[in-house]
Amino acid sequence: MIKRKTPADIAGLRQAGKILARVVDEVAAAVKPGITTKDLDRIAVERIAQAGAKPSFLGYHRGSGKPFPTALCASVNDVVVHAAASDQVVLVEGQIVGLDLGLALEVNGKWLYVDMAKTVAVGKVSRTARRLMTATQEALEEGIAQVGPGKRISDISLAVQRRIEAAGYSVVRELVGHGVGYAVHESPQVPNYLDDGFPDLVMQPGLVIAIEPMANAGHWRVQVKSDGWTIVTSDGSISAHFEHTVAVTETGHEVLTRI
Ligand code: MG
Repeated sequence: MIKRKTPADIAGLRQAGKILARVVDEVAAAVKPGITTKDLDRIAVERIAQAGAKPSFLGYHRGSGKPFPTALCASVNDVVVHAAASDQVVLVEGQIVGLDLGLALEVNGKWLYVDMAKTVAVGKVSRTARRLMTATQEALEEGIAQVGPGKRISDISLAVQRRIEAAGYSVVRELVGHGVGYAVHESPQVPNYLDDGFPDLVMQPGLVIAIEPMANAGHWRVQVKSDGWTIVTSDGSISAHFEHTVAVTETGHEVLTRI
């Protein structure tokens, strides 16, 4: 079921989104060779607490599996998404790291959820890595440009897919964007490629979605590692991920996770 958000809740989500955008920026600014992804997680946890919010991925349950162990997902190189932060993962010059973070803010007695991700370079990176990150970020922006009342979810999917494939990269199929706002994940699903298997909703004001293209330098296939969370590319190629939380307004859209 689609839960459209009230104007008051959109205002709260905007507040939450600005906090999240600032925290993600701070975490991204700390990325450098020699830092661990757990160090980045500590920054995220501290800043979220200072803002009076709570991290929404920490302890997140999916089915009967183990709860997610950290606030930040920090996905290095061939890791697509959902890598828990770790003291064992020391960033090295030339890597790229996807920083995915969600938080919830209590506004008027209601917890409101926002979600955001960006992939950043660790020092100097390859031309392929730079191009992959640029294409994925542009795909997100082109997807966002399709958001508005009367438009369809497939308008987003097509715009994202076209941009990534035009750059010569592939779109991850197994993971999709999603509704967000009253929970970490809500309906509808927002695929990053055209697929008749998904219900093709017409967007209406009050819909809030997380659009999150994931692009691989090689094949789109991915697999889950034995921890049950970490998703890696099947061919070992690098992968990039960008995400914003976006509200459908009366006249178009508003990116909520922007400062
Ligand atoms: Mg998400």
